[in-house]
Amino acid sequence: MTAEASVDMTAEAIRSEAQRIRDRGEGEPRVARDPVNVPMINNWTEALGDSNPRYPEVAPPAMVQAWTMYGLQGVRAADDPLGAMITVLDDAGYTSIVATDCEQTYQRYLRPGERLAVRSRLGDVVGPKRTALGEGWFVTTHSTWYSGDEGDEPVAEMLFRVLKFRPPEPAPIQPKRDVPRPAVSRDTEYFWAGTAAGELRIQRCGECGALRHPPGPMCPACGATRPEHVVATGRGEVYSYVVHHHPPVPGRTPPFVVALVELEEGVRMLGELRDVDPSGVRVGLPVEVAFDRVDDELTLPAWRPR
Ligand code: ZN
Repeated sequence: MTAEASVDMTAEAIRSEAQRIRDRGEGEPRVARDPVNVPMINNWTEALGDSNPRYPEVAPPAMVQAWTMYGLQGVRAADDPLGAMITVLDDAGYTSIVATDCEQTYQRYLRPGERLAVRSRLGDVVGPKRTALGEGWFVTTHSTWYSGDEGDEPVAEMLFRVLKFRPPEPAPIQPKRDVPRPAVSRDTEYFWAGTAAGELRIQRCGECGALRHPPGPMCPACGATRPEHVVATGRGEVYSYVVHHHPPVPGRTPPFVVALVELEEGVRMLGELRDVDPSGVRVGLPVEVAFDRVDDELTLPAWRPR
């Protein structure tokens, strides 16, 4: 069976379930927990800033849905057509939902003391449709609110449409390159922001101007705690180095060279020295900085001969 055929069968099954739910017609009346009442009307009009003097003698028509809400601990009625259709679409993989349309029609104003009941039926179920959110189905329900001693006087109607859609597959996560990662702190974030931007930054005291590396909160020369930074030329000479053979280091193939480089600005900085035969490294070797972009979060500085 081709994938397309299987999708079509799913669509067919959804349509047939929709028809089954639609054939049940209106669900049983669901009676409001409380009658239309003045405190709720006052809260509503206050929240919306609606100062129409007719309220709270009558209720704002747009409140109609509020009178029959399930409440915090409420459970959707077993014969609720929207709930039933949501289950069908969830099972078919259309797991996300967004409301798209709501149209209400009011037959008359409601007065405090009336107790409403609502009944709902399933309308159109249209799909599968391609949408900006993903492939989905538009599900329409129609609700009618009733009042009166017999609970048979329709006072308001609502068309409510939702889109049940299949959320797009998240982009595959790139596995992170396995390298030792620096702990970035407030003292060092300027440095790592610099490497990401292709700059080798050196901390400079905002008070006396002394350069220093590695970074720290306080100037060793004058004790000031107002660090700034300058951008280094990126050129220097090997001051000291080691050839690393063992133990293994994630992301490195031994033997490799770690060099302490004295920059033209006078500070010394550690980094891997690449593109070089370890036996050819010597103190005084002229080097320049290179930037190794590991991923969006980390760019490591390294050295290479110049
Ligand atoms: Zn200083």
